[in-house]
Amino acid sequence: MEMLFASGNAHKKEELEQLLAGRHTLLLPMQAGLVFDFEENGETFAENALGKALDLYRLSDGKRPVIADDSGLVVPALNGEPGVRTARYGSERYGRLLEAHERNLYLLENMRHLEGDSRKANFVCAIALVLSPQRLFIVQEEIQGRIIARETGTGGFGYDPVFFIDEANATMASLSKEEKNRFSHRGRAARRLLTLLDSL
Ligand code: IMP
Repeated sequence: MEMLFASGNAHKKEELEQLLAGRHTLLLPMQAGLVFDFEENGETFAENALGKALDLYRLSDGKRPVIADDSGLVVPALNGEPGVRTARYGSERYGRLLEAHERNLYLLENMRHLEGDSRKANFVCAIALVLSPQRLFIVQEEIQGRIIARETGTGGFGYDPVFFIDEANATMASLSKEEKNRFSHRGRAARRLLTLLDSL
């Protein structure tokens, strides 16, 4: 099935297409001649993903199914922060958007007094699928891990260097692309989406 993907990020699109095992193709809004911008101001990942998908569905006059995602890091000991504000974490404090490395240092600083189970964290990924205004689906998955004291590993992006997965005995940034997909919140959510798409 060909679907619109509510993102401006060609890398994300490629990654998701791979996770969908080549059985479905994605089109970015710009590839369909659409100018799409969405402000992620929902209180949950699912709300943001569905809001984004519905917005693009309307903008594209319902010509194709639409999918959209939202993801982030949740640290229970920080009252769920950075949460839906993961990409903008630290921007109030510094008055600008931080680079990934700076955000990691900011997170480590905020967690410096936390030990043991208090360092537990989850990566969450919500993916919304809109087939029509009456047929909406959301899958949401997570991977549990903990935030280690310093950045380790050079792969991946974002918070990968500080996110340690016990099951893999490595940080997300130390895993190969394939291994990351096997464990990651996005890989898990994408496999749920694939099962759903295959059943439609
Ligand atoms: P979004 O889903 O593009 O809004 O991503 C939100 C933010 O979450 C990104 O800017 C990253 O910092 C972070 N993030 C999401 N997924 C990952 C991941 O797989 N590894 C590391 N950071 C991630």
